[in-house]
Amino acid sequence: MGAEVDVVIIGGGLAGLAAARRLHRAGVPWRLVEASGRLGGRVATDVIDGHLIDRGFQVLNTAYPRLGTLLDTGQLNLGYFTSGVLVRKGDNLLRLVNPVREPTGGPGTALAGVGSLFDRLRFAALATGCATLPTSRLLAAPETSTETALRRAGLSDAFIEELLRPFLSGVFIDRELSTSSRVLAMVLRSFARGRIGLPAEGMAALPLAIAAPLPADLLDLDTPVAEVAPGRVRTQAGDIRCRAVVVAVDPPAASALLPTLATVRMHSYTTYYHSAPEPPLTEPILLVDGGRRELVANTVVLSNAAPTYAPTGRHLIATSVVGPTAPPEPTIRAELTRLYGRSTADWTHLTTVAVPEALPAAPPPQGQLRKPVALGEGLFVAGDHRDSPSIQGALTSGWRAAGAVLDELRAG
Ligand SMILES: Cc1cc2nc3c(=O)[nH]c(=O)nc-3n(C[C@H](O)[C@H](O)[C@H](O)COP(=O)(O)OP(=O)(O)OC[C@H]3O[C@@H](n4cnc5c(N)ncnc54)[C@H](O)[C@@H]3O)c2cc1C
Repeated sequence: MGAEVDVVIIGGGLAGLAAARRLHRAGVPWRLVEASGRLGGRVATDVIDGHLIDRGFQVLNTAYPRLGTLLDTGQLNLGYFTSGVLVRKGDNLLRLVNPVREPTGGPGTALAGVGSLFDRLRFAALATGCATLPTSRLLAAPETSTETALRRAGLSDAFIEELLRPFLSGVFIDRELSTSSRVLAMVLRSFARGRIGLPAEGMAALPLAIAAPLPADLLDLDTPVAEVAPGRVRTQAGDIRCRAVVVAVDPPAASALLPTLATVRMHSYTTYYHSAPEPPLTEPILLVDGGRRELVANTVVLSNAAPTYAPTGRHLIATSVVGPTAPPEPTIRAELTRLYGRSTADWTHLTTVAVPEALPAAPPPQGQLRKPVALGEGLFVAGDHRDSPSIQGALTSGWRAAGAVLDELRAG
């Protein structure tokens, strides 16, 4: 290649795209190189028999602060989920509404059978605090694991085990709830303040919308980077010389390209997709297992939120399992029969999507949820492992890394 440019961004996931947007806006010459044949990284959508199959169940929270800088979420035609969760406990399907968005609740708020009234009041107080206190206060609170924080908040064992562990294990992809309490606080804040939705064209529409203002000829697909050194990026097509490099690859690839970075443990996630002629629920709401069985983390009828996810006459159900071991589909289907309380015999198993390296672990200490992005000698790093393990974390890390590049270029 023998090319030359001010900044090379490695990786076309959300972090790399956010960095490109900031550099582009600043008028700095840049170029992005992506190993695969498409943009979006861990956010991807395939089509199977007319169904939109995201590469693992994931959702967009409209309260993520960095989204507004990069796109108008209105252009994604989001289909929204009900703000709350259903819990299967024995023969009962119980409901917890979001205590901040709907403080007066509804008839279903009385989650009899899961925890106590005190649990619900304490959880409402915790969520309200996360929603309303300044971020600086939340990030100054003593840091511990999610599990310890929930117990310190006075929540009962039943409330944690039958509702919060299944629910949060799907959010953090971490059944042990070892994730930092600071990440918990930021997640509860986003849930309380925003709405959860799916783009009408699948989650892949998110990175594509962020990339849309960027010139396509600056985005080199199918270009894996083999080596990085100050001022030089080595690809199969040759070297690119540059003043700064932003390494915005996934955490395992980041430690391979930048050996001085600490290795990050990754959590695994598997999603089973089924197509049904009738929806097992008519509401777009997450269903979790309150039976302490530790198998299914959550299940949801995606097409209830975004009807475009399934062709006419069909309904798409996504069921997710946390951890490296994915049970066979018939085991999951038996669980679904119990969870939805109806036969699943006429369902079609479309596919199972396993993502072994889905989300970086974020145990305490995570400090201010902002790890350094400038490594010196013109090397910068971005990705969800530098901020919080989320779409927001990936976007904001890329934005921060580009800001640090601009500071250094201006200073130099
Ligand atoms: C199953 C699943 C469910 C999730 N659910 C949610 C959710 O509901 N809400 C939420 O907020 N977040 C969720 N997330 C997390 C979110 O998707 C990620 O945090 C985010 O997409 C990470 O973006 P990134 O840019 O940091 O990394 P990535 O998306 O991994 O992008 C890195 C890019 O670098 C490229 N690359 C790697 N090596 C090289 C190389 N050598 N040369 C060139 N390019 C390279 C890769 O191909 C990739 O495109 C989920 C993730 C998964 C997998």
